[in-house]
Amino acid sequence: LRRKVLETSVGPGRTEDGHSVKLLLNVGAEDPDAAGAHDCEGVGLLRTEFLFLDRETEPTPEEQYESYARLFRAFGDRAVTVRTLDAGSDKPLAFADQGEEPNPALGVRGFRITRAMPRLLERQLAAIARAVDATGARVRVMAPMIATPAEAAEFAGLAREAGLAEVGVMIEVPAAALLADRILEQVDFVSIGTNDLSQYTLAADRMLDTLPGLLDPWQPALLRLVQETGSAGERLSKAVGVCGEAAADPLLALVLVGLGVNSLSMSAPALPAVRYALARHSLQACRDLAALAVASAGPEEARAAVRAAASPEV
Ligand code: PEP
Ligand code: MG
Repeated sequence: LRRKVLETSVGPGRTEDGHSVKLLLNVGAEDPDAAGAHDCEGVGLLRTEFLFLDRETEPTPEEQYESYARLFRAFGDRAVTVRTLDAGSDKPLAFADQGEEPNPALGVRGFRITRAMPRLLERQLAAIARAVDATGARVRVMAPMIATPAEAAEFAGLAREAGLAEVGVMIEVPAAALLADRILEQVDFVSIGTNDLSQYTLAADRMLDTLPGLLDPWQPALLRLVQETGSAGERLSKAVGVCGEAAADPLLALVLVGLGVNSLSMSAPALPAVRYALARHSLQACRDLAALAVASAGPEEARAAVRAAASPEV
């Protein structure tokens, strides 16, 4: 089986019947050239926090530009999705500290920091745009922690003003998933962050290791929000990706595709097994598996139903 996985696991992501599902990489602090050497169709999530964390001051525009340009060059003509700074909560920044918050996960984090420090995002968008100009790279930008269509419109305005053509937002707050159609009217694409979407849907802090069952990405409530988002993408013919941990589980990846997701972003080691699982199932088979998962009462039931119906090779 291992040999078979390796043999079929090269090239772009496709279902058995040839439907494209882009297989993308989640990238952070690693070496850009090493990241670019992976067999993937681009970057689905560049966590730009790596540039900002553990420092007393904001990285200069020049420093940001150089870092983005280096990564863009490493990916050649493959698209790179850059997430703007996701400060706050589990990613605290010394120079953007918003003071003590009783519930940091519900506080000023991600795009919300723009209210307090608008220039921070403007400088980052300008540095990204400059790196796009210098490299000619295909770059998409997206904002974290968007809750409303108004916030999505605000971000899209800022990004387009900076000269960036392809603009999206993350869907990681249940309110955003529920209004995914209205959000997609404002932007070109969305990417679902299942790590935070789990935390906010199940009201379970992702920083606690005492709540693994609630944070299980097979929770049907989470999958129904993915379904809401995927259906909105299909209706409006706009791209819907997943860049949270759920995308790295080959069996769950089939369910996500069946719910209308058309790109999956993960860390490099997960790519071959997900590619292999996709190649063993048609799009209709993925839809059938998704129907089983969303009809389940709990994560164990969902996992068992999908495992029983999927190809035994996955
Ligand atoms: C997520 O929330 O699923 C996500 C991809 O972003 P992060 O894990 O960086 O918050
Ligand atoms: Mg997140």
